[in-house]
Amino acid sequence: MKVNENYLNLEASYLFPKIAKKTAEFKAQNPSAKVISLGIGDVTQPLAPAVISAMQKAVEEMGKKETFRGYGPEQGYDFLIKAIIENDYKARGISLDTDEVFVSDGAKCDVGNIQEIFSADCTVLLTDPIYPVYRDTNIMAGRKILKVPAIKENNFTPAPPKEHSDIVYICSPNNPTGATMTKEQLTQWVAYAKKEQAIIIYDSAYEAYIQDDNLPHSIYEIDGAKDVAIEVRSYSKTAGFTGTRCAYMVVPKTLKGLANGKEVSLNALWRRRHTTKFNGVSYIIQRGAEAIYTDEGKKQIKETIAYYMENAKIIRNALKDLGYTVYGGQNAPYIWLEVPRGQTSFGFFEKLLTQCALVCTPGAGFGEAGEGYCRLTAFGSRENTLEALERIKKL
Ligand code: PLP
Repeated sequence: MKVNENYLNLEASYLFPKIAKKTAEFKAQNPSAKVISLGIGDVTQPLAPAVISAMQKAVEEMGKKETFRGYGPEQGYDFLIKAIIENDYKARGISLDTDEVFVSDGAKCDVGNIQEIFSADCTVLLTDPIYPVYRDTNIMAGRKILKVPAIKENNFTPAPPKEHSDIVYICSPNNPTGATMTKEQLTQWVAYAKKEQAIIIYDSAYEAYIQDDNLPHSIYEIDGAKDVAIEVRSYSKTAGFTGTRCAYMVVPKTLKGLANGKEVSLNALWRRRHTTKFNGVSYIIQRGAEAIYTDEGKKQIKETIAYYMENAKIIRNALKDLGYTVYGGQNAPYIWLEVPRGQTSFGFFEKLLTQCALVCTPGAGFGEAGEGYCRLTAFGSRENTLEALERIKKL
């Protein structure tokens, strides 16, 4: 039995386990140190009360013969899909049909799985630094990868390159840089995709963190985007679902790919893939996700996001006062810190760990252009965030 040799082209260690290993070693050697993580992008605040009571009600239903539910529709329950369309799209002037939305167990799975419907000889375009899942899943598939650097000279929001590509991943607001594309910038990417007959996979897992009313929340706010873009959203960071698991992907019916020179519907291919390999998100969880769209749910998740964004502001301001150069953190929960001159991002990570018992994420782990930066997150508690900054002051 031969294995998929593309897997051998992956870096030996995925970024987050590597950081976890180093952190665990530090903790073992310093058992009394209170290590604070500003590193991995997991949330810390509990699920909203509206979500909890909706899930409790759903559990009750599952316990009664009359209301018990077995397998649900693979694509997601209508009640959730309708709430998504109404609140996330119609409210922004975007119309979608119910069969264009696919509920899933996570944006990570979606951005990785979607590439199964594309040919292995498609060329993939990534911005660098990047959420590593886009890169690694395409390495697994053996695709050629091109990169455009997202650097301070282009405000971490690069313009499309001259080179051809077939699949473009855009993450906005961005993990890790915290930069967010404007409508004008996205318009350029949509034009590029049209010209190159490429598909954009638009990951807007952090759209709920956008504070500036002029910034787009969906790529479908751009004219013509429904002809070239798939959009991925997640409840993980929007509503604390990192452990609960629920996300969705929009695959418009206007999207076409080519097979033997003939047009094929990407929506039809994805439906085939999704319904063949996936059996739907649990009813209980989908009821929880639906509750995010109630008045009460909206208010509660807004408060939690405001809490994280206040952390982001505190981190940004404190680091600036200390003379650091920082980016992001204004429309995203990530702060992109330029490490002091002469240090590497791993070097700075180790320095923060060993001298301050703080964990950050070295930028180099997100790609070559991430060298020289570290990612800090606003997802901690206020208390830990303030203590972390006190420790950095003493560095
Ligand atoms: N997309 C981006 C850009 C992310 O940063 C993350 C999580 O960190 C995900 C997707 C994963 O989302 P989910 O928890 O829905 O799998």
